[in-house]
Amino acid sequence: MDFSRPDNARKINRLKVLSALRHEELSKAEISRKVKINKVSIGEIIDIMVEEGLLEEVGKAPYSSGRPAMRLAIKANSGRVLSIDAKRKAISVAVSDTVGRILRFERFPRTENLYPDLERTIKKMRGSDSMKIYGIAIVNEDLDISSIIDAPKIVLKRAEAESRSEIERMDEAENTLFISWSDGIEAVYYHDKTLMPLPQFPHIRSQREGECSCGGRGCLEAAASGMELLRKSGRKSYRELISTPDGLETVREGIRPMAAALAMAVQSLSADRVVITGELSALPDSMFEHLQKLLSSALPPNRNVTVSKAKAGDNGAREGAAILALDEFFYHKTLLDKLSAIEHLASDFQSGI
Ligand SMILES: [Zn+2]
Repeated sequence: MDFSRPDNARKINRLKVLSALRHEELSKAEISRKVKINKVSIGEIIDIMVEEGLLEEVGKAPYSSGRPAMRLAIKANSGRVLSIDAKRKAISVAVSDTVGRILRFERFPRTENLYPDLERTIKKMRGSDSMKIYGIAIVNEDLDISSIIDAPKIVLKRAEAESRSEIERMDEAENTLFISWSDGIEAVYYHDKTLMPLPQFPHIRSQREGECSCGGRGCLEAAASGMELLRKSGRKSYRELISTPDGLETVREGIRPMAAALAMAVQSLSADRVVITGELSALPDSMFEHLQKLLSSALPPNRNVTVSKAKAGDNGAREGAAILALDEFFYHKTLLDKLSAIEHLASDFQSGI
């Protein structure tokens, strides 16, 4: 993209306005200060965005000096994003507005009619054909929906989606290691406001035996993945696994290698806390206490790392996927982050560094 072209510059300024309003309502003057664009230009941009239905006026800012100014907000209804959570046995489809609220969702069992079922559900979720769909995020699997709906898509790892919805709920998320514990085990680390995938985590050697699909032996994945725990316990569903005494006994055996792998990871990352998401985050508190105890005893005495369970529960993946779809297709967060890095470099250069 050529940033010096006026139409591109205008597009970028519009994105800056959207991102300024993402978490708060502001007046034109406040937006102008926040995005560092003069008041006249910002006024013109905002008027057009209000006319297009992207923004709306929501009331007056409190009196500070002079006459009160109108506050602006993102209009939640200007369009939608879809999120699809592709699980082994069931698919769920959710539709969210531009502020990330899930408006509706539906789950259906996965059968050989996957694509017809998906098409019917997407049509229903979408509602009116005239409703703008900014984009679609699919968790766990690259389903080919190009013939069903014409909108850009991203395919996400389960851990990315689940951790994103937790981050929204946390007061402090920096330096958190997120573990998605479901059919498989996935890890991401949140550092410098960025989610970093840790593809090696499930293959940390955490016990002596057990062949892993990666070809290694003793990997965490081979010892404690949800699929492995279901297989060992003979239970058919996670609900059974975590609510029956023998199911929980099997989980307990998986907690030891999980704690060993966590200890290695938090030490090498200098992580401050661990959050468990996914199917196994529904484990009873006693299991989390056990995991905490084993982790603490594997760490040096001065290291205090807490383990907690996801707050979003079963909603985590579709909610996080919706937020990531908005990041990508509505707020264009990646593009703005890159631009702001370039702007910093340019100002460093000008100031002679
Ligand atoms: Zn492995």
